[in-house]
Amino acid sequence: MTRLLIMGPPGAGKGTQAATLAARIQGAHISTGDIFRANVSEQTELGKTAQRYMDAGEYVPDEVTNAMVKDRLSQDDARESFILDGYPRTLEQVSTLDTILAELDSGLDHVLVLTVDHEELIARLLKRAETSGRADDTEEVIRHRQEVYIAETAPLLPVYRERGLLREVDGMGSIDEIQSRIDAALGL
Ligand code: AMP
Repeated sequence: MTRLLIMGPPGAGKGTQAATLAARIQGAHISTGDIFRANVSEQTELGKTAQRYMDAGEYVPDEVTNAMVKDRLSQDDARESFILDGYPRTLEQVSTLDTILAELDSGLDHVLVLTVDHEELIARLLKRAETSGRADDTEEVIRHRQEVYIAETAPLLPVYRERGLLREVDGMGSIDEIQSRIDAALGL
């Protein structure tokens, strides 16, 4: 049973590492960005609400995101092990997640953070923009998303450090190298 968060700025490689890590821990990979994007492409009500925030590089309002995560974490495949990718991103989401997990008699084992140089992040995102087709992968929005991360999400790291859950991993290098560092940090 392994329950963890993966954090780091946009472009740190969270999605890439979370996908393979979820298989290794045999848990659900819960990416709030992926769930939002699926809703946008299906043009659901949730998708319509989320889209304007996403396109601008802003966070979707907490009440919308929190309700979606509560629903997803309550599903069977997330009961034993899960990796939450891209959530929580605000202090308000941290306290909601605490409540959700307490209600489910669950908790967190690790908060994994991938650290990458600022310039490398911008370069990776600009490269991704060539093929991703994501509306939020333009240079202006990329830079704004980094600012929002620093203002809203970086303050979560000391909270999890205080709790003794933070595992910082160097996110520079090849995908395989980073994967090995993650396994070592998590004791897998
Ligand atoms: P990501 O794929 O994780 O980079 O997320 C893409 C976009 O989805 C973000 O820029 C936000 O607009 C939205 N989003 C994803 N996760 C969250 C979250 N936890 N809180 C608010 N907005 C989010």
